[in-house]
Amino acid sequence: MSVVRHLSTDQGTTRKTLWRLFDGTLVESVLMRYPDRVTMCISSQAGCGMNCPFCATGQAGLDRNLSTAEIVHQIVDGMRALRDGEVPGGPARLSNIVFMGMGEPLANYNRVIGSIRRLTDPEPDGLGLSQRGITVSTVGLVPAIHRFADEGFKCRLAISLHAPDDELRDTLVPVNTRWKVREVLDAGFEYSARSGRRLSIEYALIRDINDQAWRGDRLGRLLKGKPVHVNLIPLNPTPGSKWTASRPEDERAFVEAIAAHGVPVTIRDTRGQEIDGACGQLAATER
Ligand code: SF4
Repeated sequence: MSVVRHLSTDQGTTRKTLWRLFDGTLVESVLMRYPDRVTMCISSQAGCGMNCPFCATGQAGLDRNLSTAEIVHQIVDGMRALRDGEVPGGPARLSNIVFMGMGEPLANYNRVIGSIRRLTDPEPDGLGLSQRGITVSTVGLVPAIHRFADEGFKCRLAISLHAPDDELRDTLVPVNTRWKVREVLDAGFEYSARSGRRLSIEYALIRDINDQAWRGDRLGRLLKGKPVHVNLIPLNPTPGSKWTASRPEDERAFVEAIAAHGVPVTIRDTRGQEIDGACGQLAATER
């Protein structure tokens, strides 16, 4: 695979890479350097078949699964760039990997598991990274979550929930018509119990779609007393799309409605908007 281009922003501490694979397929990865850690967001598929209507990657459909090597190479490239001091702030080590780029990782199950093994096996067979630093994000493929729990990893699982009620989630995350909110959360809680890791709940806040305070309250009720953390993500708007980020006052009310149930909630720092930072946007402009 070869680099089509690197795009940097945030004084060079956010670097997005557009890759061309051997057959011409395009995928993206992003490296984000913070004062205390470096995170890479990688792709597990070229495109995505999950068809979430607010997502740039989802609009183009699935091209193909990435191989284990194509997944691992995105990380190796980022580690080299950090080691060689190409990212401002001096040489550094990679601390976190999130499978939150293009694709549904659990829909490319065997290659993703293979890549986690390559990344975390001790050197020289693997890269010696910590399982605890890896987050696998899923829309909620329930049987695959159970399988993932059986692997015995200490990775974190993140569920892209985006709505607490089936009626709305059926439209925002179409796979919900197969596995409902309750089933997805139960599978997530089970993974959490078996891995000893807190479950992450990802929720993209979309103006006037899923950002009503009553939905925040409903989410808080579902998660109350569970080992979870809610990450709210201000939507990175896709050009030409009606979906956009929430108003600040609605965002605040939503946070308060969740926190009222004692559920930990934070708003994710969004990076890279000016470099088409949301997954799929850069590849979409290249087509
Ligand atoms: S939001 Fe995630 S699962 Fe949904 S279409 Fe986009 S990449 Fe796929």
